[in-house]
Amino acid sequence: MNKLKKLLVTAGSFVLCAVTIFTLFKFSPFPAFNRFKSHEYSRSFYDRNNELLQVTSVDGGIRREYTPLKNIPDELVKAALKAEDENFYFHSGLDLFAVVRAFFQNLTNRRRVSGASTISMQLARMISPSPERNFTAKIKDTLNAFRLEARLSKKQILELYMNNLPFGNNVEGFTSAAKYFFDKELTELNLAEMYCLAVIPRRPGLYNPAINPEENGNAAWKLYKESRKKIEWNEDAFLLAAELAEEKKWPFYFPHLVNEILKEEKNTKIKLTVDLQIQKFAEFELKSALENIKGARINNAALLLIENSSGNVLAWVGSNDWFDEEYSGQIDGVKVPNQMGSSMKPFLYAMAMDEGLIKPNTILPDIPLEFGSDKIYFPLNFNNRFNGPVRSRMALASSLNVPAVYLLDKIGVEPYYHKLLDLGFNSLLNDGLRADLGLALGAGEVTLEELTNAFSVFANDGIYKPLVLEINSDEKNLAVKENEIEYDEDFYADDDILDQVEKLLPGQKRIYSRNAARIIADILSDKSARVSGFGFTQTFETKYPSMFKTGTANQYQNIVALGSTPSYTIGVWMGNFNGNTVVGKTGSSLPAYVAKKVLDFVTEYNFEEFKKPLGYVREKICSLSGMKAGENCPNTIWEYIPEKDVDENKFDECSWHHRNEDGKTITIYPAEFQKWFSSENFAGTLDYNSSPLKILSPKDGGIFYKYESGNGQEEKIQVEVIGGLDVNEKVLKVFYDDEEFTVERPFSFEIPVELGRHNLTVQFGQESESINFTVE
Ligand SMILES: [Zn+2]
Repeated sequence: MNKLKKLLVTAGSFVLCAVTIFTLFKFSPFPAFNRFKSHEYSRSFYDRNNELLQVTSVDGGIRREYTPLKNIPDELVKAALKAEDENFYFHSGLDLFAVVRAFFQNLTNRRRVSGASTISMQLARMISPSPERNFTAKIKDTLNAFRLEARLSKKQILELYMNNLPFGNNVEGFTSAAKYFFDKELTELNLAEMYCLAVIPRRPGLYNPAINPEENGNAAWKLYKESRKKIEWNEDAFLLAAELAEEKKWPFYFPHLVNEILKEEKNTKIKLTVDLQIQKFAEFELKSALENIKGARINNAALLLIENSSGNVLAWVGSNDWFDEEYSGQIDGVKVPNQMGSSMKPFLYAMAMDEGLIKPNTILPDIPLEFGSDKIYFPLNFNNRFNGPVRSRMALASSLNVPAVYLLDKIGVEPYYHKLLDLGFNSLLNDGLRADLGLALGAGEVTLEELTNAFSVFANDGIYKPLVLEINSDEKNLAVKENEIEYDEDFYADDDILDQVEKLLPGQKRIYSRNAARIIADILSDKSARVSGFGFTQTFETKYPSMFKTGTANQYQNIVALGSTPSYTIGVWMGNFNGNTVVGKTGSSLPAYVAKKVLDFVTEYNFEEFKKPLGYVREKICSLSGMKAGENCPNTIWEYIPEKDVDENKFDECSWHHRNEDGKTITIYPAEFQKWFSSENFAGTLDYNSSPLKILSPKDGGIFYKYESGNGQEEKIQVEVIGGLDVNEKVLKVFYDDEEFTVERPFSFEIPVELGRHNLTVQFGQESESINFTVE
């Protein structure tokens, strides 16, 4: 064998050996590393102004955020390498030079000075910790370091190291450490702070700058001097940086919202649309309000504030106190479905406008009426009184019940239900239809989130915009800006054309016409129209244009207030998560009070007006009949009337007010107000012959359920008949099964209740009407 051949064989076996070892290191099972790779990192949340809101804790209390190496400042990486492993890029897991140096240092000093652990070895120890730091542990770390070096690139090792290095105090990785000690992001650190941080992991107790600033500062200064030839900073800078370090109390804002987002969002750094300053103010106001009415047994509250133009959420308060276990503070009140009562009425009125059923001056009946056929529905008002004929504006602003049910009966429950689904009321999908005509009075259960967002359509010209919680990229914000292009309204008078010009974003859709939305906004911002529904109008007084709608449901189980300015929409809910009833009326104006306070806070300098409906003119109308004001009308007001109606003479003068021979004003009510009229003592008359003959109750096809009253009184069915156009006829002929009798005006009478199917026929001159009903 010649020398060359020998050499080749030797070299060959070396290569083979190296490849075998490498393969072993690379492919031998390493379960601890697999576990480590999938371990959790903290997620950090910021508000729109980059205020830190939360860093979530992982593994039972550790803050450990992840920052890719390319986003870590070079100087910080340099400091970390200098501190722990300056030959990192030149060894393969074990730094032989450092081992020899450490061996001699330890020999001469008789104590451990330099560990000689490479970054790969330290990472190996983080991945698979040993209980003791002895020679065997060192061997294990070294072998595991080789395995890491075989599996990962140098950069990958360094990145894992920078993000997992323990700093004590349950803080791991430089990102969280920078926040914990300096209240800064990595990119905000100055050079001295970087070196102060870099020395901590060596001895987290001794070098904690918040506890031993001098030790930390000196070590940092020493490390800095060693790291370069040209010294540009002086010692004081390092001592000062250490001196200013503090142990941070981790912030805990927006607990409910963060909890919600954690369910879906997987990003480690999340910027929310919210504003911490507004949130703090809202939380304070809500807390004070609850404090003020302790006796009323209201223990929970929730609040949501939205920016109209973007759908951005600015404030989200889920409960009075997250940590309050007695009242389930961790429940998110923004997401809990509740009956929201009258606060739902504007959605119905807007639809009635778009269906052509009403204009602001249209008269609606607020009189005792029955609705439905198989399920008889008899709505009562807030104060159990009826107002007779009311203009639509008054009916909505004063939140009257009968007119609302009357409108829903006309529109139909199902079409309205689908309109509500369009508006985003997904909670109604469960059993919203079961509420039937009660939907008019807010009997379906919806969340404050759905309600507040839906309410913003009125300030948004009838367009629904999905809520936005996160600021994802600059693109999205640009798109929102583009959406706010100024345009000439008259030129785009048609909604369809306007929607194309405005370029609705994904998820945005038109729900109501621009005019319906603007008229609703006008009505709900009309302070004078609210009078008959509420005594307290002061709550709604603002220095800027604003609209409000309140609601209570289930004997004050839930009280809610909605408010909008042209820029913002707010919803405030108060009640109890356990469904307990609030005591009496106490506090029913409280949500509105808080809503107004928060709107005051955000609207300081912006006094933008609500937009006026297009193609409408302000005309003087009779405040009772809603018709064009005549010379006999005692009270008149200004109202929006379609310009077209005025031009085409469809805007008639008041026919209710007349003057008798004595010169006194008399009021003649239309026939449909008969029952209400006969129960009140008015100085007026009723125009009995103003409509065709009609049986108002019972309803055709209705079913009555007979029950024993117990006090011996016989049950009766109330019959109500109106109209009859023949002015010369005086009596009504009634045929009830086999019986026959006559009735005089007003045609309001009772018939006995008997089991079975019945026929009722009435006749007035040439007119007649017939119905059937059943008693079971
Ligand atoms: Zn009049």
